[in-house]
Amino acid sequence: MNTPIVIVHCDANSFYCSCHRVFEPHLIGKPLGVLSNNDGCIIARTQELKALNVAMGTPLFQVRSLVKRGDIMIRSSNYPLYGDMSERFMAVLETFSPDVEVYSIDEAFLRFDGFSVPDWHIRGQQIQSKVGRWTGLPIGVGIATTKVLSKLANYAAKRYRATGGVVDLTSPERQKKLMAITPVEEVWGVGRQLAKKMKAQGIDTAFDLAQREPTSIQKQFSIVEARLVKELRGESCLPWEEQTDGNKHTIMCSRSFGRPVTAKHNIQEAVATYVARACEKLRAQGKASAKAQLFLRTSPFRDQDQQYSVNLNLALPWPTDSSQAWQHIARKGLDSIFREGYLYQKAGFLLLDIQDNQSLQNDLFQLSSTKAQSSNAFITTVDEINNRFGRNTLRSAASGFSTARWHMKQNYISPHFTTRWQDLPRVRTT
Ligand SMILES: [Mg+2]
Repeated sequence: MNTPIVIVHCDANSFYCSCHRVFEPHLIGKPLGVLSNNDGCIIARTQELKALNVAMGTPLFQVRSLVKRGDIMIRSSNYPLYGDMSERFMAVLETFSPDVEVYSIDEAFLRFDGFSVPDWHIRGQQIQSKVGRWTGLPIGVGIATTKVLSKLANYAAKRYRATGGVVDLTSPERQKKLMAITPVEEVWGVGRQLAKKMKAQGIDTAFDLAQREPTSIQKQFSIVEARLVKELRGESCLPWEEQTDGNKHTIMCSRSFGRPVTAKHNIQEAVATYVARACEKLRAQGKASAKAQLFLRTSPFRDQDQQYSVNLNLALPWPTDSSQAWQHIARKGLDSIFREGYLYQKAGFLLLDIQDNQSLQNDLFQLSSTKAQSSNAFITTVDEINNRFGRNTLRSAASGFSTARWHMKQNYISPHFTTRWQDLPRVRTT
């Protein structure tokens, strides 16, 4: 007998906020918000903050008095922490299934092909509890036979408290029941605009949508919506993406500056820092690249300023992970695109077409092998020191010494609990 393929969707609750709560348990149960880069506005909220009607995107200055009074808690975004917690979360999921598709920083699909599991609801609870015990993150688990249905199951897991955060939607009867009470805009891939059009055609719930013929939906909308109908009917037709985590083809390092920057040397320092960081990531993955992009721009939100935005393609003759090679070409590139007289707001460096380092050939005429090796030993040592003592302990002089001008504003930053030794939480015994 064939066991059906089962797809389990796992999604962390208020992921950014939950990461902070793991290491600052006094934040549990409190209204907590995480701020965008430069402490601009609220980009993540806990249930408690939502209940106070603080909307997504609320600028910090509008809630400053609440923060001062201690009515709400605020943290600057801490991406090293989120990235590391995400990896731990995914690693736990991988103990349950060899097929994990990482969908976003806090979301993944697990595929169970040929597993005979007596009770999927219990298996879902096991996943939820192991993630909780191993990482401290609260998650919702949705179980069904297609991606769209498993997302729907997870919607129910979050929406209805009595579920305890786990919903098994493998049975067709349960699918029908849930779909009948779920507004069509809650179906994965149905945005507000599309929902409006569907409602005009009498499609109010997920069940209404599932009742339509895929062919007629394709005529009225497109093949994308027709696939949704099939998925809602239990026919799996969305592709299973190969595991991409750790095997990405680009690395981006860019930031908005804390305030507008005009001086070239400040931009040079920022770019050198981003290049160094990108190359560090490249080496950590054992990868190399020969193509990159450098960009520089003014703020599109400041109409009163003269606008300038430029992307420059950079290329090296052979793929490399060497910071020095990239620093050199990025510096020359910046010389060619920098213009005086603008208020710059953002710069970035993007490595493209990333490949495995092992499969690379050295350029016969450019690199003598001894030179390549000594430069490798040097870079490895720098990476090790920075890993151990904190980012930028050793850096190239081009990255600059006084970085206050272009650094991000992070007035509410929390420690890098999991990625920096000196930030490890301390435990005291008495
Ligand atoms: Mg989430």
